[in-house]
Amino acid sequence: MKKCPHCDKVLMASILPRCSWCGGDLEEHELRKSREEILERWEKDKKEFEHKKSLEKLGEETRKAFEKSISDRTRFLD
Ligand SMILES: [Zn+2]
Repeated sequence: MKKCPHCDKVLMASILPRCSWCGGDLEEHELRKSREEILERWEKDKKEFEHKKSLEKLGEETRKAFEKSISDRTRFLD
């Protein structure tokens, strides 16, 4: 965890070159670190979103297959 050199609070990821707490300017290596964290989080969010999407799709296909098997069975009974 990176700390602000000005107020000594833990830095939050920010694309702005300043501390979210005291507004103090941050050095380039501190800024780059938070940019990397943001990019990592975006990448993670994107992966989770895609995973959720694929689960939803799978659920939809399962439901359709289930409904089809029900309707096939019903048709057979008719
Ligand atoms: Zn600060």
